[in-house]
Amino acid sequence: MPKSFTNINKLIKFLKIDKKNQKKILLRSDFPLLLPYSLAKKIKKNDLTDPIFRQFVPLTDEILKKPGYIKDPLSEKKFKRSKLLKKYNSRALIITTNACLMHCRYCFRKHAEKFSNKNFDKEIGLIKKDKTITEIILSGGDPLTLSNNQIENLLKKLDKISHIKILRFHTRYVISDPKRIDQNFIKILKNIKKQIIFVFHINHPREIDSTLIKATQKLKKQNILLFNQSVLLKGVNDDFETLKNLNLKLIEIGIIPYYLHQLDKVEGSKHFEVPIKKGKELIKMLHENLSGYLIPKYVREIPNKKCKTLI
Ligand SMILES: *Cc1c(COP(=O)(O)O)cnc(C)c1O
Ligand code: SF4
Repeated sequence: MPKSFTNINKLIKFLKIDKKNQKKILLRSDFPLLLPYSLAKKIKKNDLTDPIFRQFVPLTDEILKKPGYIKDPLSEKKFKRSKLLKKYNSRALIITTNACLMHCRYCFRKHAEKFSNKNFDKEIGLIKKDKTITEIILSGGDPLTLSNNQIENLLKKLDKISHIKILRFHTRYVISDPKRIDQNFIKILKNIKKQIIFVFHINHPREIDSTLIKATQKLKKQNILLFNQSVLLKGVNDDFETLKNLNLKLIEIGIIPYYLHQLDKVEGSKHFEVPIKKGKELIKMLHENLSGYLIPKYVREIPNKKCKTLI
C-alpha cells in the first residue's frame, strides 16, 4: 500500500466509489491530491459525505467559479517580506515551507507561491532587528515536514534572540503521522529555553486516535502548551454534535480549543462555506450546553485588520 494517495484513480478504487459517485470527483486539479493512507483508511467506503473524505478528496464543485472566491483571500502577498509575514503586532509568522503531509481542499494557501529554499538567515535578521516581536509562529505548509535538523537549526537561532519569548508551531501533520513526534524531536524541543506552544489544526473528532494522543502526551510532558484551531466546514463539522464531541475530546487529552475559523474565501472552496448566521447559532448552542473553556473563539480573517475578527 502506498504511503499516500496521489493518484485519484487508485484512491477511487480503494474507496470503492461507484460509477454514480465518481461523476462528482475531480480527476485533475492544479492543487494535487495528497492523502496519506493513514487518513484514507478512516474513510467509509463509497461515502461522499464522510468528513475525512470531504476534506481531502477533490470534487467537481472545486472548478465552479464563484464570485468573491479568489486566489489570495487574505492578501498575504503584499505583507510578505521574504518568508516572514508580519501582519499583527507582537508576533510574526515564518512560512517555513510550502510542503504539507496532506492537501486539504479548503486550504487558503493552496495557490501560494512555491519555494524550496530552507535557509532562514534573512528572516532571522529581520526578527533580530524588530524588538516589538515577542513571538514567532512557525507555519507553512506544515513545519513538521522539515527535517529534525532543519527545525533544530531554526529553533536554536530563534532561542538566542532575547526579545523573543514564545515559539509557536502550527501543524496538521500529526493527524496523519503522530510518530513524527519522536524522541529526537522531543530532545530538540527540550533544549529550547523559550516557552513552546503547539496549535494543532484538527477539524473532526475522527482525526484524533490513540497514536495522536500518545504524541500529544509526549509534548505535554515537556511543558509545551497545546491548543487547537478548526475551520468551520460544511459537511465536516458544521453541526452541534460534531463540534461538541471534538472540543470535549480535545480537552480530555489536554488540548485547549482556541479558534473556530470562518472559511477563508479561496478559489474552489465555496462548497465548504457555512453561513456566519449558522456558525453563530452553533457557538450559542455550545455555550448553552458546555463549560466555557470548551468553546473556541469564532473568528474570521479580514485583510488589513490588526487581528482576527471575533464574530
Ligand atoms: C493568524 C495569524 C497569526 C496568529 O494570530 P493569533 O491571533 O495570535 O493566533 C499571526 N500572523 C498571521 C499572519 C496570522 O495569519
Ligand atoms: S495542512 Fe494546512 S497548509 Fe497544508 S494543505 Fe492542509 S490546510 Fe493547507
